[in-house]
Amino acid sequence: MRISKLAKEFIPYKVVENKYKIYLDKNENPFDFPAPLKEKIFEELKNVQFNRYPPITAEPLREKIAESLGLKMENIIVGNGSDEILSLVPKLTEGDYNIINSPTFVMYRFYSKHNGIKVMDIPLDEQFDLRTSEIKRYADKARIIFICSPNNPTGNSLSRERIIDILETGACVVLDEAYIEFSDKESNIDLLNHYDNLIILRTFSKAFSMAGIRVGYGISNEKIISHLLALKAPFTVNALSMRIAEMMVENRDVIEEKIKFIKSERKRLLRKLKNYAFPSDANFILVNLPVYHFLLERGIAVRHFDEERIKNMVRITIGKKDENDTLLDALKEYLNEMDRV
Ligand SMILES: *Cc1c(COP(=O)(O)O)cnc(C)c1O
Repeated sequence: MRISKLAKEFIPYKVVENKYKIYLDKNENPFDFPAPLKEKIFEELKNVQFNRYPPITAEPLREKIAESLGLKMENIIVGNGSDEILSLVPKLTEGDYNIINSPTFVMYRFYSKHNGIKVMDIPLDEQFDLRTSEIKRYADKARIIFICSPNNPTGNSLSRERIIDILETGACVVLDEAYIEFSDKESNIDLLNHYDNLIILRTFSKAFSMAGIRVGYGISNEKIISHLLALKAPFTVNALSMRIAEMMVENRDVIEEKIKFIKSERKRLLRKLKNYAFPSDANFILVNLPVYHFLLERGIAVRHFDEERIKNMVRITIGKKDENDTLLDALKEYLNEMDRV
């Protein structure tokens, strides 16, 4: 047996031990579903037949999502998390490399590598926005240009004019809107009416409080969706998750209040940390303080990065009120200690 280069290179996931008091590291929604809604869901799940395969491409859920967006089922692909769609898109097009704009979501690089595709990184500019002229220069030979807006981990939205400029090249653009529900800026979903080279990705993992349920989706024209469906394994969205996601599309109002709360907490954290935090349209903030280990020692897990440009920063997910208070207290303590040295 000869182990592949890919398998050897891959760095296994670090097991996050369940030993910290507070987890603000994965951009999860801190609120689980309200108990009565959970009851209602479990009641409904009693009707799901365990012995049968689910609908092959999750058609009922695709219908519901499409309806909520004023589109057709043929415009929607549903995956086991939007990660599954991210794993498929590199197989959709031909070209010499995928373009990413660091610092950004690490999975774009992961799935490119896993599909044997080179990655061209055209780092975001000083304001963490797209370097359009460079991207355009390399667009013809690109397979996929990954754009994340609001961007993870910087939190800002990328400028619509620049996204349009890149779409004009005709290269396939995957616009990841995983955090769009937390943003006051408009989605770029309307651009689907003008560009046939655009795929938008959304997820139930963040605003919808469903990270554990694993459902995400892609939105595009019928042609692209049919090609993506051709690449996708059947039945990857299980019957239970599909049904839960369907119910949540219908009960969207239950998430609105939590989103509002998270946005108000974001505002509070940004105000308190104004000298250190970057503006954010998402449910997390990037903070320019090297406090990863300091916070861990106080039982608070946040995200840190190996990437040079953000190596001394942390990405902090907006949590519940008391979690955010504990975080702020710890940061105050850190800054006081710094003052003294
Ligand atoms: C969390 C996240 C996703 C969603 O992942 P799922 O597989 O749907 O849980 C996609 N893109 C970005 C940028 C994310 O941060």
